Amino acid sequence: MGSLSASYFERAQEVIPGGVNSPVRAFKSVGGSPLFIQSAKGAYLKDVDGKEYIDLIGSWGPMLFGQAHPSIENAVREALSNGFSFGAPSYNEVLIAEKIVSMIPSIEKVRLVNSGTEATMAAIRLARAYTNRDKIIKFEGCYHGHGDSFLIAAGSGVATLGTPDSPGVTVSTAKDTLTAIYNDLASLELLFKANPNSISAVILEPVVGNMGLVIPEPGFIEGIQQLCQTHGSLLIFDEVMTGFRLSSSGYQGLTQIQPDLTTLGKIIGGGLPVGAYGGKAEIMNMIAPAGPVYQAGTLSGNPLATTAGLAMLNLITNHPEVYQALNQKGEFLAEGIRQQLKDLQIDGFVNQIGSMFTLFFTNIAVKNFSDAKTSDTAKFGVYFREMLNQGVYLPPSQFESWFLSAALDQSHLDHILKASRIALEKTLGA
Ligand SMILES: *Cc1c(COP(=O)(O)O)cnc(C)c1O
Repeated sequence: MGSLSASYFERAQEVIPGGVNSPVRAFKSVGGSPLFIQSAKGAYLKDVDGKEYIDLIGSWGPMLFGQAHPSIENAVREALSNGFSFGAPSYNEVLIAEKIVSMIPSIEKVRLVNSGTEATMAAIRLARAYTNRDKIIKFEGCYHGHGDSFLIAAGSGVATLGTPDSPGVTVSTAKDTLTAIYNDLASLELLFKANPNSISAVILEPVVGNMGLVIPEPGFIEGIQQLCQTHGSLLIFDEVMTGFRLSSSGYQGLTQIQPDLTTLGKIIGGGLPVGAYGGKAEIMNMIAPAGPVYQAGTLSGNPLATTAGLAMLNLITNHPEVYQALNQKGEFLAEGIRQQLKDLQIDGFVNQIGSMFTLFFTNIAVKNFSDAKTSDTAKFGVYFREMLNQGVYLPPSQFESWFLSAALDQSHLDHILKASRIALEKTLGA
């Protein structure tokens, strides 16, 4: 039986590379054909064939309060009647910047862009300009968008150069990106020693969502900050995913560690395309037109996007209790699934913090990218497809975080656990 999704996907493949506008949506790593979504509300996605799914992807993070929250929807409707884009300043840009500065203590000044990718690209350009150094260090398995400087695979040893991780990225770009191992301070220290006075910045997801969820060990982030200070390099937290998700001030809010620069995205747009980067005023003042570092955007600070973002940030400040509630939901699911793994004697490992969550099909604790890669992705594919069958929409890859929303109530959580039990049983026969 042909579904509408399948027929749309066939047409899409004729005119869009791989049929999608962002690769992971194509279901390549889990098998099957992607669903086309018709609409979304609260805890649910509805596909074009009329089937409903509990949404555990939340647009890859933005939907902290569930889909189409009325306060955001109403704010955007109202803004729409005043026009969509001016190419000139609008008051909401001031309001959202003031809001971000008030919510995230390390940010004194902030620049809005249209995506997380733009935010990280601009942040490293700024770090290079500020330090007058070329190289950056990132961590294997962290994702910072699709900018050339980040699509670099680690070399085989500290002394060997990285290599382009995508055709089209030049070897000369690759030589300026060094790669350390997450949760391994020694690997970072070696890179600093091997490249004296040449590291402009260390960029990382302080809690990683993009190799599946991986949590920093005690002292790891503090150690990175120490090394940055010793070597005169900037510390950049890429909080595109964790910003406003782990707390109202992101990962920073959990630890009081203040990076020099922070990149934001996802939640900050409430579902519309927004990114941002910000930090110490002294550094941010180097950005044009205040300073010489060029960065611009025709639709940056777009009135609809800033309205959605501002409505989202207001929701967060009006509902500070949301994080504790989300954490309880996260712990409930994590404990439930850990128990299922035990009962069924399946090799699996669950990482969870707040509303971020990953079930890895491996028998080791996952602390870095090589650990994550020990996962049985074929098993994850079986699990994913059965969850979908049971009406639960997970991110279609082993190496992603599930995103819980405040729209999930106990009946949704019970449904997810019931579905998970069935899906885990399926992996036994696979
Ligand atoms: C999603 C993400 C990005 C890229 O953001 P886009 O809006 O997709 O360009 C960058 N960094 C992190 C940590 C992300 O999760």
